[in-house]
Order: sequence, then C-alpha cells, then structure tokens
Amino acid sequence: MNWKKLLAALAAAWMLLLAVGCGDDAPVSGEGSVAVPDSSESAAEPSSGASSEAAPEESQSAPPQGEDPADPASAPPASDPGDWRLVLVNKEHPIDKELDITLEEVGGYKVDTRIAGPLRDMLAAAKKDGFSLTIISGYRTLERSRILYENKIKEYENLGYSNADARVQAARWVAPPGTSEHHTGLAADIVSAGYYNKYTDLVEAFEDEPEGRWLAANAPRFGFILRFPKDKEDITGINYEPWHFRYVGEEHAAAITEAGLCLEEYLAGKA
Ligand SMILES: [Zn+2]
Repeated sequence: MNWKKLLAALAAAWMLLLAVGCGDDAPVSGEGSVAVPDSSESAAEPSSGASSEAAPEESQSAPPQGEDPADPASAPPASDPGDWRLVLVNKEHPIDKELDITLEEVGGYKVDTRIAGPLRDMLAAAKKDGFSLTIISGYRTLERSRILYENKIKEYENLGYSNADARVQAARWVAPPGTSEHHTGLAADIVSAGYYNKYTDLVEAFEDEPEGRWLAANAPRFGFILRFPKDKEDITGINYEPWHFRYVGEEHAAAITEAGLCLEEYLAGKA
C-alpha cells in the first residue's frame, strides 16, 4: 500500500469515527485540512447562514402556488399514497425536478409552509420546558444537493480515490441530488442551541443530550418523527440521525412511533 492510499484509508477511517452520515447533510468536518465548503450546511450555520454559502438555497423560493393550498399538484412522487404528509423521497424514490411547494422561513431556514406552524410550536414548547433548540437545515434544492454531493466527491478524489470510488464514498455521507428528504421541505435538522460549542459535527451522541431526548420524546406530539432511527439503518439506508425530524402529521407520527416503525415500513404496511 503506498502512502497516498494509506493516508486515504486513514482519513476515511477517521471520518467514520467522527462523522455521522446525515445522508443529506454532509456532516464531515473531521477531516481537518480537507476543504469542506459544504459544512456550513450542517455546522455552525447560524453565524454563516446568511452568507453567500446559503444563498443558492435561500434565494430559490418556490414560485407561488395556485390559490388552492390543497392543490394536488404539490403532492409528488408515485410512492405518495395521496397524503402530502407521507411523501417518500429516498434513494429508491428520487425526484428529478423541484417539488412545487410554498416555502416559509422558520428559525432562519425555509420549510414547507404547511409545517411551519407545527415546527414553531415544537420549538416554543421545548423552550417552555427549558430546552433551547436550533434548526440547522431545512428545505434544500436539487441544485444545492448537487453542489454538496460534487464537493464531497472532490474531497475523496483529493484523498486519492478514483472518481468511481469517490462517488461511492460520497454517497455514504451526502445524499445524491434528488434523493434527500430535505427536498420535500418537510424535514428539518434540529440540535441544541449550544450544540456546536460542544461538538464539531453531527454525532449520534446528540441522542443523550437533554435536547435530543426532549425531541425524541416530544416530536410526535407536533407531527414529527425521528426519521432515521438507530435500528432501521438497513431499511432507510441512512445512518442513525437523532437530529433529523420529518413532518408526517400527528396521527401518522403517533402511529409510526408507537409501532416502532420507520416511514418506509409504515408506507409498506399501508400499500
Ligand atoms: Zn437531515
């Protein structure tokens, strides 16, 4: 094994230790010197969020929708059983064009306007209980995902990987364009307000933080589920993400949580 390969292997192992695959959030900052131009998406975003880095995403508000807020045109892929709250976007169910949704800003990030209320309510309830939460990612455009993905591929190529291998590795950390649930505007990554004073990355340990526990226990009351559970990685294809919450509505959230299912299993049961 030559030095370059050895270094690449070491760096990859290092990332496995430090980073957790927000299939979509590219939380890899453990590489240190490796340029991670996309890390603001998941790391310490609040201070830099308004900078040019966030511009591509922020500036792409979805065009105003028709008068009818229940317009079925906004309910996307084939896997959708007719309920916009249950839309499924993942590697098996990618989208190839932007969804026609109306966006609204909550905590500095855009989300589908239909979940803005519940999301605000959840943050307010946490605050009332003494937990300060902060959103670090919301709606993401296909273009934004493409940039994150390409950046990640370049990082691996810089480590000595071939383009083909770099693509495989990149996909473990950043959802390829079209496959991220963040495209739906129904998902948000949420951590404690002081998270980045303690962690440099999104890590599973958030589950043991008081805020992580509060979220896991209370999110369903507001219609959100912990979308990528620890024991469902084989099914979701995404590593455990105690910070990624997805709106499905209160009834579905209660049913999914009580049954201990992930969204894929829940939808399969309804099919
Ligand atoms: Zn996420």
